[in-house]
Amino acid sequence: MIIQHHIPSLYIHIPFCISKCIYCDFNSIVTNSQVVDEYLGTIEEELQSTIKKYSFKTVFIGGGTPTVLNETQLDRLLSAVTKYVDIPNLKEYTIEVNPGTLSDEKAIIMKNSHVNRVSIGIQSFNDRYLKLLGRIHSANEAKDIFSNLRAKGFNNLSVDMIYGYPAQTLNEWQKELEECCGLGPEHISAYCLTYEQGTPIVEMTNSGALNKLSEEEELKMYEFTNDFLCDKGYNHYEISNFAKQGKECRHNTVYWENREYIGIGAGAFSYVHGERYSNIKNVKEYISSAKSKKRLKCFSEKLPQKQRASEILIMALRMTSGISRKDFIQRSGFDLNELFQKQLDNLTQAGLINFDDERVKLTRKGLSLADSVMTEFM
Ligand code: SF4
Repeated sequence: MIIQHHIPSLYIHIPFCISKCIYCDFNSIVTNSQVVDEYLGTIEEELQSTIKKYSFKTVFIGGGTPTVLNETQLDRLLSAVTKYVDIPNLKEYTIEVNPGTLSDEKAIIMKNSHVNRVSIGIQSFNDRYLKLLGRIHSANEAKDIFSNLRAKGFNNLSVDMIYGYPAQTLNEWQKELEECCGLGPEHISAYCLTYEQGTPIVEMTNSGALNKLSEEEELKMYEFTNDFLCDKGYNHYEISNFAKQGKECRHNTVYWENREYIGIGAGAFSYVHGERYSNIKNVKEYISSAKSKKRLKCFSEKLPQKQRASEILIMALRMTSGISRKDFIQRSGFDLNELFQKQLDNLTQAGLINFDDERVKLTRKGLSLADSVMTEFM
């Protein structure tokens, strides 16, 4: 008899896209259907060999673009999940969708496979910015996909948005947020555009072809977003995430609460029994290692206890509710004051955190300056 260890979350990575967006540094490639088929075979094997001893509460299929798979491939992937995961036990089953790649048939396959949450990468409702970013869909296509998913009975839809594009104005961003809220998603992720080294957008800004917004302008947009979405009835529960009551993303909350997860696929990370490890990132190497029965794991680390405690606090502070002293002791084995008394005092005085001896969380000012607050705990 197999004794199942309870792990909250399973992540499956589909590292394929139709083309690369100019800001993207995710592990994704543009490739042909044969590689996708071979990759799916490897995923099936990894699912079979890895997860039979675990039971999960959430599954998240992300990418890349999971819906770049054709209908047969998507059906194959979701059937493998159904085969190896105890679906009735799941509280949340999410798949990421790119509006340029979702057919009616794929939406039906998702629904029939018990997917109950769809995260739609809309990013912008302005066609000019969609084109600039290299997105493969228009704003109208994105709206149609949203309505189509609703009509298919998906009642938990999340929309991903990006703001802070070169030359974007606050007025334009407000219009985009209005369009987004007009659709009525249960969840909205709104991220400020980041300039990752090695991406085309960095070259374009370095050469002067595009002008980055100033930090002040980005900050204004961040604060505006928080106020706007809270006014529309969304709970600002994480630095960049907003949800209607009870619709917070359970899967991502597992990461923020430093709980365990298993990752399947190229470059996917897992965190089990205090050990973090990851699979080979390169898709072709991942497939060939599996074929020749070599290890898929290429990195692992077990953090020293104090470093782990820092990480627990930093991740927890991403949530607007922060972390209670009791939970911190339970997760890390340390008292907050024992490790961080000086930082807690300084940051409280600077108005960046709120620590009432029972719970620590970022203040509004702290949320806007979260990156610098977090470095204090490293
Ligand atoms: S669709 Fe997503 S993963 Fe694919 S290139 Fe664009 S940003 Fe990257």
